[in-house]
Amino acid sequence: MMLLENKVVIVTGAASPRGIGKATARVLAANGARVVILDLREEDAVAAARDLGEGHLGLACNVTRKEDCLVAVEGVLQKYGRVDGLINNAGITQPLRVMDIAAENFDAVVDVNLRGSLYMSQAVIPHMKKQSSGSIVCMSSVSAQRGGGIFGGPHYSAAKAGVLGLARAMARELGGDNVRVNSITPGLIQTDITGDKLTPEMRAEIIKGIPLNRLGNAEDVANACLYLISDLSSYLTGVTLDVNGGMLIH
Ligand code: NAD
Repeated sequence: MMLLENKVVIVTGAASPRGIGKATARVLAANGARVVILDLREEDAVAAARDLGEGHLGLACNVTRKEDCLVAVEGVLQKYGRVDGLINNAGITQPLRVMDIAAENFDAVVDVNLRGSLYMSQAVIPHMKKQSSGSIVCMSSVSAQRGGGIFGGPHYSAAKAGVLGLARAMARELGGDNVRVNSITPGLIQTDITGDKLTPEMRAEIIKGIPLNRLGNAEDVANACLYLISDLSSYLTGVTLDVNGGMLIH
């Protein structure tokens, strides 16, 4: 019996080929889950789901739109009749300094990272409550804990710190329904989120501060997601799991 046999898990922002979401989707599928990939463009989500093999689903969903989230979860229930896990992974970042954050920067970053985590959670919670089981994982960042200083600006740190608060409060509220909510705080992971804005010099400087002496891989975070989504973590809720190579030891 595989860890996630008969489980249906939604991963948001999982179409990015080198991203944490896609790597997580792969690990979940390899452990027996039916995986639902949500992302902005339908063709990307469908293609990413196809990459996982048979029996998975890809749907378009902009997590900043409540209606999109509800429609996507409805689609999941129509196909599988249940939803066991949600990974709130969709996120964007911007390397801005505090005085350069304009209203549209703040809105964009807070909307995807924080509002999106709330809306997707609200879409699955009624069904998880009905099943009396569920696991939600929220992707925060070490940036929330140490006040940025890696790549994203203060608005990103704030949004990711908001994610930690949201996840902890949901954990408290939903514990009685056997719905667990936990967060992951990755350090710097090699994906395309930084675009071409992460220079080799920045990279070398950052590695100096990492005891494990390397940047993280998407798979490093994916394996932590597997743990938190599966019953291996059955008595964990409201925790923050650091996946940062020791960049922040506290
Ligand atoms: P990525 O850019 O590779 O992937 C992000 C995905 O989110 C993309 O597929 C994108 O299309 C999707 N997305 C963006 N806006 C969306 C929306 N409104 N609705 C649905 N999907 C949307 O990024 P990644 O590095 O894999 O990051 C994944 C998560 O991990 C993010 O929340 C990010 O903030 C977090 N994180 C990343 C790092 C890192 O170093 N890469 C570190 C800490 C935290």
